Amino acid sequence: MIASRTYLDHNATAPLRPEALAAMTAAMRVCGNPSSVHHEGRRARAIIETAREQVAKLVHAKPLEVVFTSGATEANNWVAASGEWAAILSAGIEHDSVRGPIAGASAALVSLQVSLDGLVAVDEIARHGLSGAAAMGRTLVMLQMANNETGILQPVASVAAFCRAHDLHIHTDAVQMPGRLLIDFAELGVDSLSLSSHKLGGPAGAGALVIRDGVKLASFMTGGGQERRRRAGTENLIGIAGFGAAAEAARNDVATTARLARLRDMLEAGIRELTPSAVIVGAASPRLPNTTSVAVPGQTAETLVIKLDLAGIAVSAGAACSSGKVGASHVLTAMGLAPEITNNAIRLSLGWNSSEADVATFLNVWGEVTRSRARRAVA
Ligand code: PMP
Repeated sequence: MIASRTYLDHNATAPLRPEALAAMTAAMRVCGNPSSVHHEGRRARAIIETAREQVAKLVHAKPLEVVFTSGATEANNWVAASGEWAAILSAGIEHDSVRGPIAGASAALVSLQVSLDGLVAVDEIARHGLSGAAAMGRTLVMLQMANNETGILQPVASVAAFCRAHDLHIHTDAVQMPGRLLIDFAELGVDSLSLSSHKLGGPAGAGALVIRDGVKLASFMTGGGQERRRRAGTENLIGIAGFGAAAEAARNDVATTARLARLRDMLEAGIRELTPSAVIVGAASPRLPNTTSVAVPGQTAETLVIKLDLAGIAVSAGAACSSGKVGASHVLTAMGLAPEITNNAIRLSLGWNSSEADVATFLNVWGEVTRSRARRAVA
C-alpha cells in the first residue's frame, strides 16, 4: 500500500532517512539526562554534542553557535518575540511561524514590498531600515532564504551585508535549504538562522536557532541552564540524535542539487507539455531545485490535491500543512498574483529519495486528471 504511493511533499515533511532512524533507535536506549554528571548523563551529553557538530557542519557554523530547539517554529518565535526590537521589517511571504509572533510583537511593524517575481529588494530594507521607529532602537529584519511554497530564493547575503553595515539584526528562516542547496552561515553574514530537522529527513519536533558568535539575544525559554543558558528545558535527546544524523547524511549527499534540479526540470517540462495553460510560479526567479508551484486555470488546488491523492500521489495546496484547510495562499497573495493563481496553485516538492519513477508516475496521473476534466467540460 505504502510502496504504491508517490510522495511529492518533502517541503511539508521529508521521509525519515535511515541514518536518522538508526541514530534515534540507538539514542532511545540511553537513559541519562545530558545535564547529569554521572556516566549515563555523559553518554547522553556526548550524543547531543555530536549532533551539534553535525548540524554545525551542515551549515558551516561553529558548534557553539547552534542552539537546539523544538523546531523552526520555536526558533522563529524566539527571535521575533524577543521584545528587544523597536522595529521589525518583514514581508508577507514569510512562514506563519514568523508572521504570527511578529503580529503580536510590541515593535513597530514594517511590511516590505514583494515583487511579482516573489523577491524582496535590498533597497526595500535600505528604504525602511534606517528611519522612523527603526532609527529609535534595535531593529530586526526577518527575511527567509527559500520560500516553502514556491522555492523562490531571497537575496539574503546582500541584505545581510546592508544590515551588518547599519547595525540591524538580520534573521533568516533557512528551513527549506538543507538537502537542496548549500548554506554557508559564516559567509552569509546573518545574525541568526532557523533550521528544522523534519525538512531534511530527521524527525519533527527538533530544530535549531543558529546564533552568530557574539550576538546577544535574550532567551525565549527560561528556567534552566541547558544550551549554555540560552534555551531552558531538558534536551530532546532522541530527536536531536536523529536531526544530527540527518544533517550528516544531507551533507554527504553532495550531488543532491543537480539531481533534484534534473528531476524538477523533467517534471516541469512534462507539465508544460500536458497542460500548456499551466502557470509555474516563480519560473523566472532564482529557486530551490526541488520545488514547483503550479496553477492550472479552472482547476482549484483543493480538487487537484484530492484527485492526485486518490491516484496515489501526495502533494499540497499552498502552505496548508498546519491546518489541513485549503484557501488562497498568503504567499502568492503577497506576491500580487491573481486569484486564479492564488487559489489554484499546488506545490510539488522533491527530496532525498525522489526518483525518475516518481516523476513518471506523477506525469501519467497528471495527464489523466487533466484529460478527465476536458471530457467533463464537453459533456
Ligand atoms: N519555516 C518554514 C519556511 C517552513 O516551511 C516550516 C515548516 N512548515 C517552518 C518554518 C516551521 O518548522 P517546524 O515544523 O520545525 O516548526
